[in-house]
Amino acid sequence: MNNNIVIVGGGIAGLCAAIAFQHLGIQVKVYERSPEPTVAGAGIIIAPNALQALEPYGIAAQIIRAGKASESFHLLSEKGEMLTKLTVPSGSQKMYSIHRKDLHHLLLSALHPGTVEWGKECRVIQQDDHGVRVHFADGSIAEGSILVAADGIHSGVRKQLLTKDIYRYAGYTCWRGVVSSDGLPGLSEHFIETWGTKGRFGIVPLPHHQVYWYALVNAPPNEARYANFTAQDLLPIFEDYHMPIPGLLKKTEPHQIIHRDIADIVPLKRFYEKRIVFIGDAAHAITPNVGQGACQAIEDARVLADCIEQYSDIHEAFVQYDIRRRKRAVKISNLSWMLGKIAQSESSILTAGRNWIMRHTPKSISQNRVQDLYKFHY
Ligand SMILES: Cc1cc2nc3c(=O)[nH]c(=O)nc-3n(C[C@H](O)[C@H](O)[C@H](O)COP(=O)(O)OP(=O)(O)OC[C@H]3O[C@@H](n4cnc5c(N)ncnc54)[C@H](O)[C@@H]3O)c2cc1C
Repeated sequence: MNNNIVIVGGGIAGLCAAIAFQHLGIQVKVYERSPEPTVAGAGIIIAPNALQALEPYGIAAQIIRAGKASESFHLLSEKGEMLTKLTVPSGSQKMYSIHRKDLHHLLLSALHPGTVEWGKECRVIQQDDHGVRVHFADGSIAEGSILVAADGIHSGVRKQLLTKDIYRYAGYTCWRGVVSSDGLPGLSEHFIETWGTKGRFGIVPLPHHQVYWYALVNAPPNEARYANFTAQDLLPIFEDYHMPIPGLLKKTEPHQIIHRDIADIVPLKRFYEKRIVFIGDAAHAITPNVGQGACQAIEDARVLADCIEQYSDIHEAFVQYDIRRRKRAVKISNLSWMLGKIAQSESSILTAGRNWIMRHTPKSISQNRVQDLYKFHY
C-alpha cells in the first residue's frame, strides 16, 4: 500500500493514530481545525485497556508517571454509603487520572515535529480509486492514500458520507471543574461517583494537588438557563450530598467550570467507506458512564495501525479493523447508555431498590464485567 495517511482531527483518537502509524514508519499528517495546540476540558481517566493498547509506543509509561493511580472506583449513595466498588483485575494496570491538557501535551510530544497542522478546518472530502483529497476552509488541499476521520462526535466527514443524523441526546447535562485539593476535608484517595435522586457527582483526584469533579443532572436538551450556570448555582442541587461535594462546589470559580450536554452517536453500521475510516467519537461516541470513550478511541488507533501493517490491501485492512473493533465498541456503547439511565433515576422508590441490588450483588458478577471492560482486545 502506498501509505501516506491523512488524519482529520487532532484529539485523542487522531493523535494516538498518528503515533501508532509513525511507530510503523508510515508517513502521516494530522489536520486540526484549532489554531493552536490548546485543549478545553477537565480531567480524564485512562483505564488499563487503553494503557495496554498504548504500551508499544512508550505512552503508557508516561501516563503512569504523569497521572494519579487508583485501583478502584467507588459508587456511593448521596449520604456517602458504599453501594459497590469496581476494582481493576489483579495483575492488571491501575486506572490513571490526568488533566486533559497534560495528556494532550504528552501525545503531541510523542509525534515527529510538524506532524500536526493547526488551523486546518476540513470542509470537503473527495475519494476515488487512487486516493483521497481534503479541502480546507483556508483554501488549501491535502492528498493521501487514505483518510482517517477522527473529527469527534459532530464529525463533518461522517455527515458528508451519511445523511442520517445519528446524534442521540442522553437526557442529562454535565458540568466539570478542576480545583486545588488543598484544604478540602473529606477528600478520598479513590475515584468516586455518588448517585442520588437529584443528580450524580464524581470526584477524581489528579496529580499536583488538584481534583477533578463532574456533576450530571437530568435536563431537556440545550436548556438555556444551564449554559451559564456556575458551581454556586449547582450548590442548591447538591448541598445535602456527602462531603466534600458541597465544599468542592463552593471552591470552584466561574472560570473553572465547563458545561455540555451528554450525547452519543448510534455506532456506525460500518467503520469505513472506501478509502475513509472512522475512529474514536466520529465512529462511536460513547456516553461517559463507563469512562471508556477515549479508551475505546485509543484501542481503535492501535488496532487500525495493526491492520494497516498486516494487510497490503486497504479494503482488507479496513474490513479487519471493522471486525476487530465494532462489536466491542457497540457493546460498551450500549452498556454505557443503559448504565446512564439507571444512574440518573430520580424516583426514590426505584433508587432505593437499585441501591439495595447494588449493595447485594455478588462481587464476582460486577468484577466479571470489569475484567472484560479493562482488557485490551487485539
Ligand atoms: C463529561 C465527559 C467525561 C468523559 N470522561 C472520560 C474518561 O474519564 N475516560 C474516557 O476514556 N473517556 C471519557 N470521555 C470521552 C472522551 O472525552 C471522548 O471519547 C474522547 O475525547 C474522543 O476523542 P476523539 O479524538 O475521538 O474526539 P475529540 O476529542 O472530539 O477530537 C476531535 C478533534 O477533531 C477536531 N475537528 C473537528 N472537526 C474538524 C474539522 N472539520 N477539521 C479539522 N479538525 C476537526 C476537533 O477540534 C477536535 O480536536 C468523557 C466524555 C465526556 C463528555
